[in-house]
Amino acid sequence: MQITLKTAAKAPKPGQSPDSANPLSAEFLATVSHGPGVYQMFSRREILYVGKARDLRKRLSQYAHFSGPPHAKTAVMLSHVERVETILTTTEKEALILEASLIKKHRPRYNVILRDDKNYPFLKVSLAETWPRLSVTRKRLKDGNRYFGPYTSSGEMHATLQLLSDQFPLRHCRTLNVRKRPCLNYQMGRCPAPCAGLADLDEYRKRVEEVLAILEGKTGALKQELEAGMLAASEALDFEQAALYRDRLQALTSITERQVVSLSGELDQDVFGLHRQDASVAVALLFVRGGLVTGAQQFFLADPIGDDAAVLAQVLSQYYTIQRQPPRELLLPLAPEDETLLAEYLAELREGPVTLSVAQRGSRMQLMRMAQANAEKLFSEESRKEESWQALATSLRHRLRLSRFPEVVECLDISNLLGKQAVGSLVCFVHGEKETGRFRHYRIRTKDSPDDYAMMREVLERRLSKGKEEGDLPDLLLLDGGKGQLAVALDVAGRLGILGNMDLAGIAKERHGEGEKLFRPGRKDAILLPAHAPALLYLMRVRDEAHRFGITLHRRLRGKDQLTSALDAVPGIGPRRKRQLLAHFGSLRRIRESSAKELQALPGIGVDLAAAIVRTLQEGEGG
Ligand code: SF4
Repeated sequence: MQITLKTAAKAPKPGQSPDSANPLSAEFLATVSHGPGVYQMFSRREILYVGKARDLRKRLSQYAHFSGPPHAKTAVMLSHVERVETILTTTEKEALILEASLIKKHRPRYNVILRDDKNYPFLKVSLAETWPRLSVTRKRLKDGNRYFGPYTSSGEMHATLQLLSDQFPLRHCRTLNVRKRPCLNYQMGRCPAPCAGLADLDEYRKRVEEVLAILEGKTGALKQELEAGMLAASEALDFEQAALYRDRLQALTSITERQVVSLSGELDQDVFGLHRQDASVAVALLFVRGGLVTGAQQFFLADPIGDDAAVLAQVLSQYYTIQRQPPRELLLPLAPEDETLLAEYLAELREGPVTLSVAQRGSRMQLMRMAQANAEKLFSEESRKEESWQALATSLRHRLRLSRFPEVVECLDISNLLGKQAVGSLVCFVHGEKETGRFRHYRIRTKDSPDDYAMMREVLERRLSKGKEEGDLPDLLLLDGGKGQLAVALDVAGRLGILGNMDLAGIAKERHGEGEKLFRPGRKDAILLPAHAPALLYLMRVRDEAHRFGITLHRRLRGKDQLTSALDAVPGIGPRRKRQLLAHFGSLRRIRESSAKELQALPGIGVDLAAAIVRTLQEGEGG
């Protein structure tokens, strides 16, 4: 959709007007339109909040006169706001779309951010092909194939896939090429081998129908058929065939036992439960597809801004995207804010109508209760987690005599990869949990083989000067190392004038023995915590994560090396040709997937060389 933006207002930056200290001053508000649009609140370094309003001036005036308790999230956010910008839209719906896209883009700290961005897998039956196959995919497309899911438990999904492949075998290969001899799957009874002309299309199609019926949960007729087949086979003393039917029946029972059948017909629905306690909210989501509950997902929102209706509206507008389209019906625990607007927005994403219903009774109510129960369960789990985090952080602060609560902990580890490439690996934990989006690798730039300290100095200078500039420093910076590394960090932080902005500590293995030593500035002796102290175990976990993160890069680089060296095995391929191939195809995988004809399209690659490349790379793949 094309959004028509009209004019924009900007609150004065500090120093621009007499009332510049207040980004929501009366002077600024007088410049804001009464029309619909989006407002963005900024601190010095980031967008804090994005919101939409039917009447921008009225909405921002409410913030200007906010009178809630000072610890309320809105008050805390407002205390950090330095600048406000507005974007006018022609309609409220445009404002909603723009708000959703800005939130997705910037993930502002005070908006409802759904931290689970996973794309759950689907099972795909490729009905668009003559000989369909069953596979796992993350993308559901409108391409004539059938998709089942999303499955939130990949274990369950793979178990279903395994049972189906064992008992209702379809072809496995991605591309069906004519072959003289079928592959091993045929010998193992896992494929009827259409590739070699050994399969009967009608029988194969019947099997596909059986697979579809099982995935749709419509197993009654198939069960009867298998039972009848088993009986007939045993009466005919064909015990091998009877055993085959028996195994299929067992697989069928096992798969259907996993499927929770919804009583609300064969609709596709997403069912939301919401549970609030004080400031925090837990949201649980059940996926009902074709009348089966195929999965569940949950989100915990600590202190979101807005009441339940506003929070639910934000969850819905954040959760659904063009890639993750809403189903035909959403069952909700309450009417969300701007319900009609939201329904229109979701209908556009789906390219079809979406009904937002509040369950009142009957089978819908049962589903709703199930979602509510999940939300409540999540709430108690998260509360327990929060309590244990508070206990851990308190103990950490006490044991290490930290100047602040270690909400954000970063750890830096320097490692040498392949003996050539030195890398700094920085990991970040927030509230005791990994924040992988803030993990960073730093390639060491210094050319002349620097020592450990010099490498650490280089990485720290880069990380801390950027952090200082952007006001983004951890509460505790942990270094993999002892006094020497700590001294480097103290020096770098001292020079940047940020020693008072965070705590520093070092963690190193004891030279003789299994234990760990902790180092803090100003303390001559290392701190030795009991081996099972949760504070120590937490710091070790953070440090180990930094090691692990370093190793992932190591593997990636080594993997690249191995991949490219596969090309070295091709007779007639030198470094120049190798570069040419990689530059053209982008990766070895793509070269491997290319036909001899595609390879020949490159200058200097003739029929023989192309054939040699195909042969060698396929051999390298193992068949
Ligand atoms: S037997 Fe043929 S059709 Fe079946 S998986 Fe192997 S190659 Fe594909």
